[in-house]
Amino acid sequence: MRFSLNSETSGTKKENAAILDELEMITEEKFSNCFQCAKCSAGCPASEYMDLYPHQVILMAKLGLFERIFESKSIWICTCCFACGSRCPQDLDPARIMEGFRLIALRKTESRPEVYPFKGEIPRQAYVAHYRKNFK
Ligand code: SF4
Ligand code: SF4
Repeated sequence: MRFSLNSETSGTKKENAAILDELEMITEEKFSNCFQCAKCSAGCPASEYMDLYPHQVILMAKLGLFERIFESKSIWICTCCFACGSRCPQDLDPARIMEGFRLIALRKTESRPEVYPFKGEIPRQAYVAHYRKNFK
């Protein structure tokens, strides 16, 4: 199933500013502090299953490319393990940013993508978080 949102999330400057405001309010994270070192992505146990790495999600947000994020599987694959935030030299928490995008997506649509990303050996914690989040 393709994950799509309506035109509320497509690209005017005003709409993008509104999404960024909503995200910063939900997450209490300052996106502009990210300098794209990618340490968050390097330590993410689920990154191999993502079509956008955590640092790329933040970059897309900074560029106002929200449609690309909402179409991505990555915000649903994130297991909320918080490994990314522990590595960030800028004291950002990409896990909260992923959560913020999920919240906004759920507010705007009742559908979710069907995401079954995990094959082979992954951390048990990742399985538990993934299934708790996607199948409750
Ligand atoms: S580790 Fe922090 S500063 Fe580096 S890319 Fe990730 S969020 Fe940005
Ligand atoms: S919280 Fe999500 S984005 Fe961060 S390291 Fe864990 S799985 Fe990756």
